[in-house]
Amino acid sequence: MPGTEEEQPNRTDEGADSGPPRADCVHCGEPTEYPADRPGALLCPHCEWLEAQRSACSG
Ligand SMILES: [Zn+2]
Repeated sequence: MPGTEEEQPNRTDEGADSGPPRADCVHCGEPTEYPADRPGALLCPHCEWLEAQRSACSG
C-alpha cells in the first residue's frame, strides 16, 4: 500500500533525557525505570507501589 505515512523505524525521543529508552507503565503509561527491551508487564514506581499495597492488604 504505497503513499501512506509509515512510522519511522528510528524513532527519536524528543525528551530532554538522554539514554536508553524506557518501557511504559502498563497501567498509566508513564515511563518506568526499566529498559524498553525488558520483557513482561512493567509498572512505573508509583503503580508498583500501588500493586505492593494491594498484595499486602489482600486477605
Ligand atoms: Zn504507572
